[in-house]
This record gives sequence, C-alpha cells and structure tokens, in this order.
Amino acid sequence: MSKVKYYYDSETLSYQKIEKKKGRRLKIFALSLLGMFLSGFLLLLVYINLPAVQTPKELALQRELHNMELQFELLNKKMNQAQAVLAEVEERDNNLYRVYFESNPIPEEQRKAGFGGINRYKDLEGFDNSKLIINTTRSLDILTKQIVVQSKSLDEIAKLAEEKEKLLAAIPAIQPVKNEDLTRMASGFGYRTDPFTKARKFHYGMDFTAPRGTPIYATGDGKVIRADNNATGYGNHVVIDHGYGYESLYGHLYKYNVRPGQKVQRGDIVGFVGSTGRSEAPHCHYEVSKDGERINPINFYYGSLTAEEFSEVLKKSQEENQSLD
Ligand SMILES: [Zn+2]
Repeated sequence: MSKVKYYYDSETLSYQKIEKKKGRRLKIFALSLLGMFLSGFLLLLVYINLPAVQTPKELALQRELHNMELQFELLNKKMNQAQAVLAEVEERDNNLYRVYFESNPIPEEQRKAGFGGINRYKDLEGFDNSKLIINTTRSLDILTKQIVVQSKSLDEIAKLAEEKEKLLAAIPAIQPVKNEDLTRMASGFGYRTDPFTKARKFHYGMDFTAPRGTPIYATGDGKVIRADNNATGYGNHVVIDHGYGYESLYGHLYKYNVRPGQKVQRGDIVGFVGSTGRSEAPHCHYEVSKDGERINPINFYYGSLTAEEFSEVLKKSQEENQSLD
C-alpha cells in the first residue's frame, strides 16, 4: 500500500491529502513496464548466448563426456579382439574337438541366435551417444551369448572325452599272453588245418603257445560273464563283457583266477595257460567279438606291441598252418 502524503494548508489551517495527478501515475507505470521488458530481454540474450560462454563446471563435464567416448571406443576395440579370440576357439571346437569325438559342429546360427528381429535396445535410443552405446551393448551381448554356447559345448566335449576314455579302457587292446612268456604265436584268425580232423576249417581266434601255468591277462576293462567248462571245445574258459558290444574269450585254461560277475581291469590275471577241452598242446585260444560276431583280434594289439613286434605277430598270424584249436 502506497504511502498517503499530506501537506499543511495555511489557509484552512488543516492537513490536506496530496492528490497525485492521473497522467503522472500512468507515466510511471509505462516506464516501469518498459524497464521490466528491457531486463527480461537482456536476460534472454544472456541465456541464448550461454553455450558460447561456458562455466568451468560445464567445461569439466564436456571433457568428461569426451573422455567417456574415448573409453567406449577403446572398449569396443577390446571387445573386437575378444571376439576374434573366441572365433578361433569356436573354429577349433567345431573342426577339431567335435570331429575327434564324432559330434556334429554347432551351426553358426545357433552360436549367435537371438540377435535379429526385435529391437532390444529401444531404451538406449534418443541420446547423443545412443549409437555408440547400442553398438557396444550389442557386441557385449553377442559375445556373452557366444561364450555361454562355447562353454556348454566344452562341457559336452569333456563328457565325450570321459566316455572315450572309458571306451578306450574297455576295448580289448593288448595281448592276453605277454610277449616274453610266449613260446610262439602259433596260429591266427582265418582258415587253418584242424589239428584233429586235418580238415580245412575257419579258426575264429588266435592261439598263443606258452608253458602250462603261464598267466593270461584281461585285455580290457569289463565284467567276467563266464568262467566254466560248459562250452564244447573251449575247455576251462573265461569270457569278459567289455561293454560297447565287445567281448573277449580265453580258452583251454589250466586254472581260473576269476569268478563270473567279477569286475576286471586290463592287465588283471584271469587264468593260466593249459590244454583243457579240444586242444592239442598247452596254449591260450583267444577270441574277440563285437556285437556277437567274432572278429580278428590282431586289429586290437596297438596297446602293447611295438611296430616291429606287431608286424612279426601279423606275419605269423597270417601263415595258413595247423591251429592248436
Ligand atoms: Zn585256437
């Protein structure tokens, strides 16, 4: 509320209100309006020209932003390097490990699946640095996905390797009679003369001649399924089930060293050389079968023989002589 001013009127001997003239009041009003307008315009000018005149804080922020951009670029470069290393691991996984373990390679689409179609980076759009951030985020997502797929693949390969190890331990891969105990490799797999009838007959195993009582070894890991004298011809014999379709048979034993149901490992003594059953002289008649079919045991001796020993055994086993049965 504006002050009301008075003056002393000496004629009326009383105080009278000073009445402001209307025109003067209007002038004051117009002037103050102009003042306000001018100061507002000035403020607007300052505001518009602000980016050109930066405060220290703004300068610091801009430097930080620039630095961040550089860091992002560096991060992208590092991710590209990681990507290259991973690509090499994937290549090795597909072309080496998976081939070695007879497993199908992982298709490229599966390794990078889930990154086409929908825009999963919508939240990151609408900023000055959106493109940079989206690209970096996408690269990182793809990299992460590939690492997960690769890691699973290696788990699978580790399992396959374990299986392979079991399979290798199970396959009948050594000679049932040690080379130094062997008198001779008497007869191999194929047509031979029957020692009793002198007729030409297929001999389904290999005969290892050795003195009576010479140890006979399990040629692979497995479970004894027979140790008896109840099959014609074989005399006292042991049969081992190795799994994966493989079985081995040791015939004409003098004595058993195992019972049916017993688990054995490659190299365990299953019995001793004898001449029981249909046999002409002490020897071990050895058979290997795969899926019920008897196959040539010579193909399995890679585990215990040198190259020279192997070719020697091979030569002798191929002679079409008389078997000991
Ligand atoms: Zn034989």
